[in-house]
Amino acid sequence: MDTIFEKSNGISGITLTDEKEDLSFIDKSLLRNSEIGLPQVSELQAMRHYKELSDKNFCIEKGFYPLGSCTMKYNPKVNELLASLEGFANLHPLSDDFDCQGALELMYNLQELLKKITGMSAVSLLPAAGAHGELTGMMVIKKYFEVKGDKRKKVIIPDSAHGTNPASAHLCGFDVVSVKSNEKGQVDIEALKEILDKDVAAIMMTNPNTLGIFEEHVLEISKLMHENGSLLYYDGANLNAVMGYTNPKLMGFDVVHLNLHKTFSTPHGGGGPGAGPVCVTDELKDCLPVPVVDFNGEKYFRNYDLEHTIGKVKAFYGNFGVLIKAYAYILMMGDNLKEASANAVLNANYLKEKLKQAYLLPYDVPCMHEFVLSGEKIKEQYGVSTLNIAKALMDDNTHPPTVYFPLIVHEAIMIEPTESETKDVLDNFISVMLKIAKEAENNSEKLISAPHNTPVKRIDETLAARHPNLKFVQ
Ligand SMILES: *Cc1c(COP(=O)(O)O)cnc(C)c1O
Repeated sequence: MDTIFEKSNGISGITLTDEKEDLSFIDKSLLRNSEIGLPQVSELQAMRHYKELSDKNFCIEKGFYPLGSCTMKYNPKVNELLASLEGFANLHPLSDDFDCQGALELMYNLQELLKKITGMSAVSLLPAAGAHGELTGMMVIKKYFEVKGDKRKKVIIPDSAHGTNPASAHLCGFDVVSVKSNEKGQVDIEALKEILDKDVAAIMMTNPNTLGIFEEHVLEISKLMHENGSLLYYDGANLNAVMGYTNPKLMGFDVVHLNLHKTFSTPHGGGGPGAGPVCVTDELKDCLPVPVVDFNGEKYFRNYDLEHTIGKVKAFYGNFGVLIKAYAYILMMGDNLKEASANAVLNANYLKEKLKQAYLLPYDVPCMHEFVLSGEKIKEQYGVSTLNIAKALMDDNTHPPTVYFPLIVHEAIMIEPTESETKDVLDNFISVMLKIAKEAENNSEKLISAPHNTPVKRIDETLAARHPNLKFVQ
């Protein structure tokens, strides 16, 4: 497909007046003396060009999107409508509290709902995404110990964790210590005990973890940590598995981030925007970033007056549009949030049971909302890698699952169907995955050169990241 520059044909989409503007007030040295070089096509041609490009995108509206850890669920379109209501979308961030009571009330109410969902006591809506929430949460933990005059330097992180966990802890100046997983895919408690000492500020955990397995000893872990004077951080990216069944507070956590764009229905992928609110226990609430939204019985206001606040972590008040969508979604779902989790878990277990006939399932236990297969056997036997399988799925109009994560599973294929999909869609995915497993055996060449039906075929991924060729010529 040609770029818009190559399509340029000198036809202008707009008609300029013949009158030359008087530019004599601009210094001559600043004036361009050559053509500006922008593409020129008619309005209709411009529209067709971008529509054609957009049609090449894959999105949840087009097909199944089982990207593990990302919770690519259906995002009700009506929420977009609500977020674009003029009163919200055109509100100036510097408006006086008095002039934006409605927006502040919405933020306050969302804080209250998130408190209820997580069991926590206070919420900051500021962070722009999950990783930013982690950073904020770890800064809060650091501040908490500073205020106590306790100089703890270490943060423990399971080897199955998302890469942003160690990155966030490290950015806050903590030393990261890895704890290994046991044969059940859970934190090895004996290994944890060995590395636990008075220098440990916190453990960062995801529960269910990135293998989609519930950490059954989480209460024992939280007891160990608290007895040691350490805190527990909950990476809430997997909250979609447990809503209404349990919450981070009941599991013994002190600080939580949520990914509103995952669990609470904001379209994501392609870079945002997202929102990663941080929820904390009573003990930590004075360390939250400012402002938080408060209510004094009469009016809602932005509160900058927290005794040990870490300060500001974002301009203004967070990604407000995402907050609106999350609020609408939670109100819309009500108690059915619990059912969403139940169906997410059911869908994942259904896929897992059907796919383990053909793919290695390293941790063969009931899963939560996602599970991790391994392409290791298929690679050994037929020379077809997990990457090849992912590419082959694209030929069947299916977005590949997450691959090569978590790192502790070789040739990992991480599948998360979410609650939004019907059994027909799951059955179709199963048949495609089983067909690919057969092809690995009988027609491995086809898989190794996949994809065959996509606008862009197999690329050198390293080269493509460094020298992108935006022309799609192949
Ligand atoms: C997605 C994810 C994150 C990071 O969240 P972003 O919103 O992408 O910054 C952290 N941990 C886990 C387990 C995740 O799945």
